[in-house]
Amino acid sequence: MTQFAVIGLGRFGTTVAETLAKKGAEVIAFDNDEKKVEEVRSFVTNAICLDSTDEQALKAANINNVDAVVLAIGGNKEVSILTAAILRKIGVGKIIAKVDSVLHARILKIMGVQRTIFPEQYVGREIANLLVSQHIFTYMEVSKDHSLVEISTPPFFIGKSLKELNITNNYKVRIIAIKSSIPTVAENGDNIVKEETNFIPSADDILNERDTILVIGKKLDIDKLIKMSEKQIKKK
Ligand code: ATP
Repeated sequence: MTQFAVIGLGRFGTTVAETLAKKGAEVIAFDNDEKKVEEVRSFVTNAICLDSTDEQALKAANINNVDAVVLAIGGNKEVSILTAAILRKIGVGKIIAKVDSVLHARILKIMGVQRTIFPEQYVGREIANLLVSQHIFTYMEVSKDHSLVEISTPPFFIGKSLKELNITNNYKVRIIAIKSSIPTVAENGDNIVKEETNFIPSADDILNERDTILVIGKKLDIDKLIKMSEKQIKKK
């Protein structure tokens, strides 16, 4: 089973630990505040109170055996940087760190931290992307240049199959799922709408008016597709 360590149990660290645990991963949670440790004990595999700048304590907790460490101390840069240095020294392979400035991120990157996350910036971008278009239902940044969005089916896609649309060549994006809302009559006679998701649709699958599609690709290409779609919707 995949095993993670989360160091720092503020709102960010606790959310990461809880979500990982809910997804079935083994989570060892650390904080130097006993109260924070107790708060997560019921849902993580193990919760340990230690100072993350104490190399011996981290070694004794076998932190070098986990698949990845989430370093969730953003507020105190000195502690964050020192902890990252110790984690690298004792052989932790993968470190994902919360940062609170560009400089902080740059220092951790130089030290070999694979991924740095600036939570406020990350969420801010997602919210802005959701707000600018009423046709985007989900927005997720996959990498610096790529994103995943859920959008309403563009008008020029309706009634056509993926093969006909030749989406990968014509729009340089991929549709990874089609979500359909199907009006149905329930056993008690009520009119209900059933949601169905067709993951990895085949070339012959046809897009319908009420469908939403999950699209992955370069941000530039996704933006182009959304703009084309919005133009057509406005013309209607
Ligand atoms: P969040 O925004 O996630 O709520 P925060 O801004 O409140 O976090 P941070 O400074 O990022 O606080 O610290 C997150 C957690 O890290 C706190 O719970 C804190 O007790 C813990 N922490 C701070 N220093 C250490 C340390 N040396 N060893 C272990 N845990 C630490």
